Amino acid sequence: MSFISAAEADNNTYDVIVVGSGAAGGQTAYTLTMEGARVLMLEAGRRYEPATETPMLQTNADAPLRGSGTPQKPFGFWDATIDGGWDVPGEPYTSASDDPARKFVWWRARMLGGRTNHWGRISLRNGPYDFKPHTRDGLGFDWPIGYNDLAPYYDKVEMLIGVYGANDGLENTPNSSPGVLLPPPKPRASDLLIQQRARKLNIPAVAGHRAVLTKALDHKRLPQILHPGNAKAQKILSEDMQKRAACFFATPCGRGCSIRANYQSTTVHLPPALDTGNLDIVTDAMVRAINKRPDGKAEGVTYIDRKTGAEHRVKARVVVLAASALESVRILLNSGVANSSGKVGKYIMDTVGANFSGQVPMLENLPLHNEDGVDGLHLYTPWWLYKEQLAGKLGFARGYHFEFGGGRTMPGMGTAAGLDWLNGGTYGKKFKEDARRYYGSFVGFAGRGEMIPNDDCYAELDPKVKDRFGIPVLRFHWKWSQHELGQAAHMQKTAAEIIDAMGGRYSMKPQSGEKAIKQGGIIIHEVGGAIMGNDPKKSVTDSFGRCWDMKNLFITDGATLCSNADKNPTLTIMALAWRSSERMLELMKRKEL
Ligand SMILES: Cc1cc2nc3c(=O)[nH]c(=O)nc-3n(C[C@H](O)[C@H](O)[C@H](O)COP(=O)(O)OP(=O)(O)OC[C@H]3O[C@@H](n4cnc5c(N)ncnc54)[C@H](O)[C@@H]3O)c2cc1C
Ligand code: SF4
Repeated sequence: MSFISAAEADNNTYDVIVVGSGAAGGQTAYTLTMEGARVLMLEAGRRYEPATETPMLQTNADAPLRGSGTPQKPFGFWDATIDGGWDVPGEPYTSASDDPARKFVWWRARMLGGRTNHWGRISLRNGPYDFKPHTRDGLGFDWPIGYNDLAPYYDKVEMLIGVYGANDGLENTPNSSPGVLLPPPKPRASDLLIQQRARKLNIPAVAGHRAVLTKALDHKRLPQILHPGNAKAQKILSEDMQKRAACFFATPCGRGCSIRANYQSTTVHLPPALDTGNLDIVTDAMVRAINKRPDGKAEGVTYIDRKTGAEHRVKARVVVLAASALESVRILLNSGVANSSGKVGKYIMDTVGANFSGQVPMLENLPLHNEDGVDGLHLYTPWWLYKEQLAGKLGFARGYHFEFGGGRTMPGMGTAAGLDWLNGGTYGKKFKEDARRYYGSFVGFAGRGEMIPNDDCYAELDPKVKDRFGIPVLRFHWKWSQHELGQAAHMQKTAAEIIDAMGGRYSMKPQSGEKAIKQGGIIIHEVGGAIMGNDPKKSVTDSFGRCWDMKNLFITDGATLCSNADKNPTLTIMALAWRSSERMLELMKRKEL
């Protein structure tokens, strides 16, 4: 089994159809196939081979416009997203409001592996409070499971994909089990200075957690833990782990990693799943709808071959939606299934984002030193004001973390631009001196916070607009609440305080929440839209992502998240997907699916 054509898939039978090949689809297909289920993966994008297609060692100078972003490649010329972005040609979405503050923007990747080829790899666990937010402060929804239900799956995903970090034992910031995390990279000079000065303000700065191999995976120990009693799976995984090299601090992870040192579904989940012989993948397969059997269960799906426009139908015992939260919502709405609660499309959430940066004279003209590192945070600041917040002292209900960094990253367009506020504007020899002086003396803080689900943020089908395949598109409604605005203002104020404590300066004062907050969708952490719960009248799925109304239909992407903690969602999506897949295997074994 392998990459096959739509015509070949027509003649086959499968246990499970998985729609989408990103973090959720990759994890689902991996868990199912390693345990023997026959899976057909349908992916709307084209086939993508990181080993040969990753622009690993090119410099910005080798690219048009020195690698700068364009509407087609917003994250720069070398970015891994070979098809997709804020605009996908022929596949629009609409907004119910023209007010920019009420518009939601949607980043989509159309390629094998989805957004995991590009993502920031920041991999944080939700903590115990994050599963029971309503119990804690009366807002939003509790999850039908608690931290302890998901902890073993966080461990499994971290061991499989490889996550660096440290166990710091901080409040609501869980430790991984011993022997799970890889060692974190050394802090850079700017990290150490931030850490030292933040501590004086009682703000922690600890090792970051990212899905990057800082050393080779233990290919003897881990496969036995991950697949006990399954010699075939252990052998496949052990061999595959040996083909992944440790990070050699090469180029930005957003380009992808041809040595497979960071996590992409295409380099970590799909190769061993394919090696089982149990996975078939059809690319350029745009799923339009779920087909229903006379008994109300899912029969399979209808999809369109993007290259020929031909429509195909495939059948399986189980259908899994893992097309990314909002694409799964769209498929559900277009199928008219699993929505007796009326909750499909409701409670969509993004992460609250506000950035702040400054310049630190102490970091100017530093002697040349080794600033090697993984491309991404080495340290970060987890939320630290839980007690003050619960006591109502902050004026907003949920927390955030800071992703921060500095140092001499690879120069690009604009590296020495915008220095006027520091030097009054220079040119010639003085400008060159200034470029050297200030290069590496800037620090940036990205606040990333929890959004509380609200009735004003939802997606529905646009009554008029269809995409180029004739499939109705989503129309978004969006509004931040005072909690998110208050949080964004706090991010700005706190980042400025840390920069002050470093003896630094900034060109712009901290802004109000309304001005500072990023537009809905910009952080690209959208989740919700088919939330899980205990009550079929108030939720779309149970805690396994199994639809209340269609027992052989599962959702394993972020659509089922009923809150969006400040922790970036992808690790949680993968842990849930592993848990759901085990449930499917169990039910299939018992012939209940
Ligand atoms: C710039 C950027 C940085 C990010 N950084 C982080 C980070 O540091 N940490 C973090 O936790 N998260 C991060 N994210 C978010 C992360 O990428 C997503 O949470 C994650 O990829 C979600 O996985 P998914 O499988 O649900 O969706 P995706 O990875 O988007 O995969 C969905 C797949 O389904 C396919 N698909 C869609 N519709 C259909 C259809 N109708 N039929 C068939 N196939 C379909 C798509 O083509 C795609 O390949 C980042 C994202 C971006 C873009
Ligand atoms: S920094 Fe490391 S993990 Fe990231 S792309 Fe480069 S080599 Fe790969």
